[in-house]
Amino acid sequence: MTVPTLLQIRTDAALDKEENGLPRVELAPDFREFRDAGSVAEMVRRTQEVLADPTFPTARAWRDGGGKAVGCFPVYTPQELVHALGLLPVALQGGGENLEISRADASLGSFLCSISKSTLEMALTGLLDPFDAFVFPYICDVSRNLDGIFSRILPDRPSHMLHLPQNFASESTVRFLVAEYRSLLKKLEKVAGRSLRAADLAASLALFGEQRLLAGQLAALKRERPWDVSLVESYLLLRLGGLLPREVHVPLLRRALDELRGRNQKAKDAVRVVLVGPFCEQPTLELLQLIEDVGCYVVGEELQMLHRWYPRVEPGGDPLESLAAAYVRAPVDIGVRSTPTTKAAAILARVREGDAQGVIFLTAKFCEPALEDVVLYRRALEAKGIPYLHLEFEEKSTTYEQARLQLETFVESILFD
Ligand code: SF4
Repeated sequence: MTVPTLLQIRTDAALDKEENGLPRVELAPDFREFRDAGSVAEMVRRTQEVLADPTFPTARAWRDGGGKAVGCFPVYTPQELVHALGLLPVALQGGGENLEISRADASLGSFLCSISKSTLEMALTGLLDPFDAFVFPYICDVSRNLDGIFSRILPDRPSHMLHLPQNFASESTVRFLVAEYRSLLKKLEKVAGRSLRAADLAASLALFGEQRLLAGQLAALKRERPWDVSLVESYLLLRLGGLLPREVHVPLLRRALDELRGRNQKAKDAVRVVLVGPFCEQPTLELLQLIEDVGCYVVGEELQMLHRWYPRVEPGGDPLESLAAAYVRAPVDIGVRSTPTTKAAAILARVREGDAQGVIFLTAKFCEPALEDVVLYRRALEAKGIPYLHLEFEEKSTTYEQARLQLETFVESILFD
């Protein structure tokens, strides 16, 4: 298959050297490469370069500047707490296409998602050296076990499993989550060498709130004018938000939105779809591009949920309690969060919001939480006659011929219905 131009990883000056066959990107500690990026094309290209390098260039650059970094597993790590202590929260979202899995395969069972194996592989091979601590929210048995494994294989660096509430109706739920956040903070404060100050947390909440707002505006633009921003562009712009210091990402996203709003591209005859399932492990760029290339407009998705697992923190009051309340009271329905809404209502609401003509379930192979939801969502869609397609992916998927065929058939069945 010919790789689309947008996805070809360049070997220019930014890719300074290669180690173990992996591309190696060096960034300035002040992240000027992103502060100065003047166009969406440049931002997207630089993000691709960073993602192609599994040695975490942004965390390395932060350390070069004298800072400490914390690896945050999806989905619900409260990165605001990490930030408020002056640490860099970096999203751990797998090893991507360039990482060969050799040692992790011997330690984990075969029927596990790729992100668990690539995360362990990176820990075993020193690729996570730029990190001083790790946070694993308890979203599934796999994430829980990763925390245990990390504690054993990297004993010099704290790893914390964040327990999350399951009962959202109880009056004690917010209190429970505040206590869990405090226990995470205890470890993070040791890493940072100082205690959390309420004013710092309030400032972090405000900055992350701004990032959320801009991420929401990008999603709205993609929903309203999907021809003016491609899925790969919107995905990469948001993915960058979990890798860069937020102080650098927020103005970058604002500049990107200004440019995207000024676009006036021609709409094509495409099918509006919602992508459901990739809330944790992330599909390859090639697969994302393929979905739109075959004639879909993605008008709703679950990629990069780290920016939208709650809509907003209510201002005022104790900031830690406000952050916990935002999680408890936000009905964001993805496979690793049960909410007061029913699954049927949730999927139908998302189809309505995007004015979508169909749903594509894009689930990571062996991701049980996503697969369990597919069963519930499908029933609701079938009852309303809404077409859907189910595709599975892995981090190192390389051939997409079958997926292309399935997608093309799906699109045609809707267009010519
Ligand atoms: S991809 Fe699914 S199974 Fe794997 S860690 Fe994420 S939520 Fe758990």
